[in-house]
Amino acid sequence: MPTIINSLSEWQQLRSSDIFRNRSLGLVPTMGNLHAGHQSLLKRSTAENDLSLLTIFVNPTQFNDKNDFKNYPKTIEEDIKVASDSHIDFILIPDSQSLYPDDYRYQLSETSLGNKLCGKHRPGHFTGMLTVVLKLLLLAKANRAYFGEKDYQQLQLIRGMQQAFFIDTEIVACPIVRNEQGLALSSRNSLLSSEQLTLAPRFYELLNAPLPIKTIYNKLTEYGFEVDYIEEIEGRRYGAVRLGHIRLIDNIEI
Ligand code: AMP
Repeated sequence: MPTIINSLSEWQQLRSSDIFRNRSLGLVPTMGNLHAGHQSLLKRSTAENDLSLLTIFVNPTQFNDKNDFKNYPKTIEEDIKVASDSHIDFILIPDSQSLYPDDYRYQLSETSLGNKLCGKHRPGHFTGMLTVVLKLLLLAKANRAYFGEKDYQQLQLIRGMQQAFFIDTEIVACPIVRNEQGLALSSRNSLLSSEQLTLAPRFYELLNAPLPIKTIYNKLTEYGFEVDYIEEIEGRRYGAVRLGHIRLIDNIEI
């Protein structure tokens, strides 16, 4: 069973203890409601490190939509079981007050890529994400940290931050895990109705289609998706769509 830690000072004490002497540490930051996508990161971490830390924190500062934050699925008991099955050693579940002793007066933003794609459509999202990931990287002092390519723009921004601030943790990218229909696994998928869940794989299907992005945009709209964007940047096609209140993102190499 993993050791569950709620207090940051307890974690910091543990981190400087003998347990970690001459042992590598892998970090997997998540917002919980773990699925097979998260599991692939956990397994990679336990395979490549002596010890692994999973963090579960639904970070309020990266939600630009209050309802999205409120409705974000929370399944902590199941998450502990998944972590245990993946041989995770530690689970850190901090609260908002202890992660933000500054009341979010200090923020880390990126001013170029951070304003494109999801950055354009979700104001403040990447600043909240980068700020909390920086805090988690500094707290974990891990040798490696694992992030999914499902959130490709996020991954690029984290890599850029790691380089810009000389952070001594290797950022490891993990491939997208999809369901049988091609839909990228996401915690928000559990909020889709069965009808929406049947429609959702069309998003991936059309993103892959050898069609101009304008045509893809129009076809998705015809199917009933509300499209935030379909864009191509540096050999990658990115998309974000909504089905009702649920927002889905995906990306493919082109
Ligand atoms: P989240 O809990 O959504 O913040 O995700 C935590 C980490 O898991 C992030 O690095 C995500 O990119 C990654 N992740 C989420 N879904 C998937 C997926 N379907 N395939 C691979 N990685 C994923």
